Amino acid sequence: MSEMSGHETVERFQAVKTSIARAAKDTDRKPETVTLVAVSKTFDAADIRPVLETGHRVFGENRVQESQGKWPELKAEFSGVELHLIGPLQSNKAKEAVALFDVIETVDRPSIAEALSKELAKTDRRPKFYVQVNTGEEPQKAGIAPQEADAFIAKCRDEWKLEISGLMCIPPVDEPPSPHFALLRKIAERNGIATLSMGMSSDFEEAIQMGATHVRVGSAIFGHRDYA
Ligand SMILES: *Cc1c(COP(=O)(O)O)cnc(C)c1O
Repeated sequence: MSEMSGHETVERFQAVKTSIARAAKDTDRKPETVTLVAVSKTFDAADIRPVLETGHRVFGENRVQESQGKWPELKAEFSGVELHLIGPLQSNKAKEAVALFDVIETVDRPSIAEALSKELAKTDRRPKFYVQVNTGEEPQKAGIAPQEADAFIAKCRDEWKLEISGLMCIPPVDEPPSPHFALLRKIAERNGIATLSMGMSSDFEEAIQMGATHVRVGSAIFGHRDYA
């Protein structure tokens, strides 16, 4: 990473912060009611460090293994980091996920809720848990179906003793996102859930209008992702 690209990352980060504040004010919300989760997947510690140096502490990653390669070091270097897991979790990675992540946004099926519950019994770590809802009912996408969400949330709370504090969704790419954000909000309201993780680089302003408390923004901050 060159010094130049670090500088550009910080400029883009500040621009996103400004847009978030504007979108919040436009709907009579205080900017601090919206938390920016800076999604740093595919970027290495050298790319992430300039954003940490601005004082920002909330980041998102979608893979446990990739995160283990950079975040233990960064968490040791910068205190107060809040790391969100925003990608699918496998049951055999529950232990590693609980050890590293502060928020697990992708609780989406009984097997993973059970694995997390078992892991909590063995550790003092207490990450927050969100349920991912597949609002578009897309077969290829993770998340609990909307019509099963209430029962699943209740079971997470009663049977697996997971405190579900938030909901998360990723709307279909080819549809207007706002109806999906509205649906997520409705499910949250009837289940007494205050945290809504919704909105990405292309639609975080709409998500804020619809009540997002957390927006997950990657490419608008870190630039184009190279998966090669
Ligand atoms: C990658 C990712 C994001 C960020 O996407 P951008 O379009 O780069 O902002 C947000 N949420 C999830 C679940 C992701 O996997």
